[in-house]
Amino acid sequence: MSTTSTYPLRQIMHMDLDTFFVSVERLLDPKLAKRPVIVGGSPFERGVVSSCSYETRVFGVHSAMPLRQAFRLCPQAVFLYPHFTHYAEYSKLVKDILSDIAPQIEKASVDEFYLDLSGCEKLKGNTYDWAKDIQKNVNGETQLPLSIGLSTNKLIAKVATSEFAKRSEAKSYKVEPGDEAQFLSPLPVAAMPGIGEATEKIFLTYGMHRIGQIAQTPVQLMTRLFGKNGKTIHQHANGIDLSPIIEQREQKSISRDHTFTEDTFDVVLVVASLHRLASDLAEGLRANVVLAQKIGVKLRYSDFHTVTKTASTCYTNTTQEIYRIAEKLLRSVWTRRQRIRLIGIEAHDFIDDLQQLYLFGEDKQKKEGTIDSVVDSIRHKYGDASIAYASHLVH
Ligand SMILES: [Mg+2]
Repeated sequence: MSTTSTYPLRQIMHMDLDTFFVSVERLLDPKLAKRPVIVGGSPFERGVVSSCSYETRVFGVHSAMPLRQAFRLCPQAVFLYPHFTHYAEYSKLVKDILSDIAPQIEKASVDEFYLDLSGCEKLKGNTYDWAKDIQKNVNGETQLPLSIGLSTNKLIAKVATSEFAKRSEAKSYKVEPGDEAQFLSPLPVAAMPGIGEATEKIFLTYGMHRIGQIAQTPVQLMTRLFGKNGKTIHQHANGIDLSPIIEQREQKSISRDHTFTEDTFDVVLVVASLHRLASDLAEGLRANVVLAQKIGVKLRYSDFHTVTKTASTCYTNTTQEIYRIAEKLLRSVWTRRQRIRLIGIEAHDFIDDLQQLYLFGEDKQKKEGTIDSVVDSIRHKYGDASIAYASHLVH
């Protein structure tokens, strides 16, 4: 079955940053180069491997393995606690570089991107050469090792990266239009994205070891086995994937403000309102799973004269830190002896909050972060008015 006759031919590039967390750690500490490195934490604590270098994989270490087990297999490895903020910064850097190069980009995860390079042959020449140029560019600017795959859809491009590019010298692989099903056919069932251990087991029970065997199975049988998913798995096994590149519209800033019922001089009231705003803003950041680098405060006097000031911080989304900065800013902009009409607070320059993404619910979060997330969940369940910090109650 061919996709090319019914649908316009696409050129989709998949990019995967190799052993991403380890690679970033090596940029931060070059002494780690070529050494076996495991990111996840201390081998004497509970927890799992987040990322491990190729040097550890020959001993059987892989991600999601308990750290203690990784230590038994590879005691000579350097065990590191994750530095999520650095990983998020590098991920953003890669995204920014790609955004300048390609018309359409999807960030699939912290270390994985899809680019739609369709229809650029006239401008860029051979698409595979262009894809390899992009790879060289990103590697040159970030020093991060990365692999790329190119094909007519996301599924095949991803498999091209994970099953072939990663193991190749050039770290790149292309699947020609029309070769998609043939390319997948000899690969083990588990090589197909979206097939987890449970699904794999079912296939193995039925004696299906290769993707080609799934492709040959009547679609009715697939639907009977897996419901609606069965049809999708069957399409995928035949090399067909029509899913589009999804560009996330990223929020650039989050702001909150408060207009006083009556213009006010009351420092206690203004400060309490600011704390409330900081708490709401921090909650907004956490809901979007981002950390902000810049915090701004806006102050409007009764004559509508408005002053704003912004400060940089270490990336944060905790109420305490945002309030601390906002209060300092407020004190520096509040210079007139005049009543205040409105105060506002804004956060921008975001990166992903990987700690929240990876560790939510685990006991590794900072205490402050834990308090915030408890507040979030109670508010979520019972409404905003249900919980407030003592300083808000001045309202
Ligand atoms: Mg990766």
